[in-house]
Amino acid sequence: MKLINFHTHKPHLSSDAIHVVSYDVETFNRTDPNQLSTVGIHPWSTESDHTLNNVEKLKSLSQEKNIIGIGEIGLDRLKGAPLPKQFDILKAQLQVALENRKPVVIHCVRCWNELILILSESKYKEIKKAIHGFRGKPEVAVQLVENGYYLSFGAPITFASPELAEALTRVPLNRLFFETDESEMPITEVYDAATDILDLTLEELVKVTHENFGNFFGISPL
Ligand SMILES: [Zn+2]
Repeated sequence: MKLINFHTHKPHLSSDAIHVVSYDVETFNRTDPNQLSTVGIHPWSTESDHTLNNVEKLKSLSQEKNIIGIGEIGLDRLKGAPLPKQFDILKAQLQVALENRKPVVIHCVRCWNELILILSESKYKEIKKAIHGFRGKPEVAVQLVENGYYLSFGAPITFASPELAEALTRVPLNRLFFETDESEMPITEVYDAATDILDLTLEELVKVTHENFGNFFGISPL
């Protein structure tokens, strides 16, 4: 079984793994229709004057077969539009996810409480959700898991602090993904680091991430 790279911005990585490529709506161009992808308005793009147009564009893109999720979307306290505008754009995109029955891939920086509050609104309850590039505290990981989130870990676990390693061990296996995001690092290195921290074999980890992929995206990764 191939390794699953849950989230990358590099569309041209080697095909010995299954990569889910993430695009920003504003800069999205027609790509390989067979490439598994997610598309969304990144929190950093929320300052754009075109956000209303971009929500419309997202609505039509999200109906395409290879767009398997909405993302990355989310909240960032340090970058992007003022938070009230980020809340509105997040909610507009959650609505698109809901209407198209797509899961969401979330970027969150220092806004955990706000994020959990918005996603807990009853109308969004049925949306499957994953935090990508998780590098927060173990308590935050536990809180997210309790609220139904999947967590995806990236390159930082290859040089993990004891705290980040602990966060990884606190996530149930059926909620885990691994990714390379902006890094050019081979995804195998992230899995190797995770097998060390979790004391699992690569085969075990690949098997659970395939199951998770199926549960999260509602399609087989094969
Ligand atoms: Zn990313």
